[in-house]
Amino acid sequence: MADGGDAESNALENVRELEALLHTDVVNATGVLLHTNLGRAPVPLRSNARSTNVELDLGTGLRGSRHEAVSRLLGPLCGAEAAVVVNNNAAAVLLVLAALAPGRGVAVSRGESVEIGGGFRIPDVMEQSGARLVDVGTTNRTRLADYQRAVTSDDIALIMKIHPSNFTLTGFTESTPVTDLAALPVPVVADVGSGLLDSTCPWLHGRGGVPGWLAGEPAVRQSLADGADLVTFSGDKLLGGPQCGVITGRADLVSACASHPLMRALRPGSHVLAMLQETLLSYVARTVCDEVPFWAMATAPLESLEQRARLVVATSGVGTAAQTEALVGAGSAPGTVIPSWGVVVEGDVTADLRRSTVPIMARTRDGKTLVDMRTVSPADDPIVVDALAALR
Ligand SMILES: *Cc1c(COP(=O)(O)O)cnc(C)c1O
Repeated sequence: MADGGDAESNALENVRELEALLHTDVVNATGVLLHTNLGRAPVPLRSNARSTNVELDLGTGLRGSRHEAVSRLLGPLCGAEAAVVVNNNAAAVLLVLAALAPGRGVAVSRGESVEIGGGFRIPDVMEQSGARLVDVGTTNRTRLADYQRAVTSDDIALIMKIHPSNFTLTGFTESTPVTDLAALPVPVVADVGSGLLDSTCPWLHGRGGVPGWLAGEPAVRQSLADGADLVTFSGDKLLGGPQCGVITGRADLVSACASHPLMRALRPGSHVLAMLQETLLSYVARTVCDEVPFWAMATAPLESLEQRARLVVATSGVGTAAQTEALVGAGSAPGTVIPSWGVVVEGDVTADLRRSTVPIMARTRDGKTLVDMRTVSPADDPIVVDALAALR
């Protein structure tokens, strides 16, 4: 009997230990909008258990393509002929290289042979794809003539332009824009990374226009208009959708990617496709700031954040409201901050906040804890209030 009780309590103990490792909802109060450890852009999960017509055309009742809906939605949004969706942007780059440049050279500027996030290194992805990296130019300057020389003297299948998302190069620098590369007789692939669909942000009209922190982020529509034959990007960065990668642009090249054997290994499931489709529908309807959580948070007026921070302090009786600086995160818009408001609590209470019913992730600075309101959905303010009140 006693033994049975011990075994039971051990099993319970194990479950409790496991609890901290289980994937669960958390409140992101870090002020980092696209926090990679917290799954980047927040998106709502579908809650029913119905099937999806993932590869079935409801009009004809016949087999359809899982890429058709996204392709058709992206067309008008960014001027693309077609698109396919894979599990992330790393997969998108891998598939493009494997499908369009097997055993052949791909010209990349030495200044763009970068590492992004944990383990996405252009030379390594190139090697895995079976394509051969052909370095052009120098770390700080790469001119059209450098690409030209590579294209005429080597067997180059593609030119790849990679946005060095997570760092900036300043000083004596020069890079060749897509507009110039498009004049060369080889397809140009632009890995823009962040998935900003249009640099003019038509979905922000009437919301203060294009925010300063977006300056310098390459966009899908403009890259295609400049002459990129294909563009690759993540779904869960500035697009504000689920984790996925999108390959979009010329229909023949997209089709070559879609029919490559790796496609089957890299394709996402129906939930991801449905969430991506929801996100794109919000762009079509121009309801992005209301329906896409990342954009709602990124564009929330400073006064509303101040009001919420003051209300949280008043109702919980803990901390003081203060101005803070939020970040885009996920390597997007490096070096820029978004003004914000938060609640400052003396001491490091982050472990207490993580033990809240819905764990709250905050950051510490100078021995204080900072709960940033910009990355908290207003609907979660009561959770923050309860967790702070419990500190008293
Ligand atoms: C983020 C990023 C990647 C990697 O994308 P994942 O979706 O994280 O796989 C690749 N290229 C660029 C330019 C990026 O910004």
